[in-house]
Amino acid sequence: MLFLASRSERVFDFDLASMMALVGNQISLIVEKIKLFEETRRLSITDDLTGLYNVRFFYRSLESELARARRYKDVFCLVIFDIDDFKVINDTYGHQVGDDILREVAEIILNSARQTDVVARYGGEEFVIILPRTSKTEALLLADRIRERVEENVFNKNNTVKIHITISGGISGFPEDGKSAKDLLYTADMALYRAKGSGKKQVVCHSDKPS
Ligand code: GH3
Ligand code: MG
Ligand code: MG
Repeated sequence: MLFLASRSERVFDFDLASMMALVGNQISLIVEKIKLFEETRRLSITDDLTGLYNVRFFYRSLESELARARRYKDVFCLVIFDIDDFKVINDTYGHQVGDDILREVAEIILNSARQTDVVARYGGEEFVIILPRTSKTEALLLADRIRERVEENVFNKNNTVKIHITISGGISGFPEDGKSAKDLLYTADMALYRAKGSGKKQVVCHSDKPS
């Protein structure tokens, strides 16, 4: 709707009205284009299933965070979570229930993180968080809280069969565990691997010493 007002009387006539209608139509076309552009951009960085950021946005954010931390000699952490025995969940309850669980886990992680953290779906049943200006001690506290919340949550609660799941996590810190995105992902993954190897349902920080 285009609304025109004037303090003087009778300044609008039919000629002006039809001209403004033309202008109005042009403006509405531009607004439509902007909306479409915004929606396309949102979709291009969003994971369809969970609504979290997708891996493309995650990589971009990680590079930005690396640049920021290098520039300001700051620290940050990377957390990778992986749902334990998710294949069994899928095989037992079906893919649809598996999808619902993925959505709910995503929500728990998102609600536990800070506004400035970047939470993304990394792969099938894997999630990542970039924690700016966060030490490994702080990252471990947050990651363990998330792990506990997932463990305490009742999934599939609207159905008769209630489901409980667990997750494992790996943490790497900049700069001590890697100075590039590739190295930080590798060390976080190594920590996750150790968490899986030590019985799952736990979070492990990368360090050179084997636990
Ligand atoms: P581990 O504890 O070692 O991580 O075992 P796991 O079973 O979780 O790991 P594995 O890599 O063997 O299996 C991952 C499973 O995740 C298999 C795959 O079907 C499931 N998965 C991946 N993406 C999706 C998805 O989008 N929806 C559903 N429902 N399942 C998915
Ligand atoms: Mg996995
Ligand atoms: Mg898994």
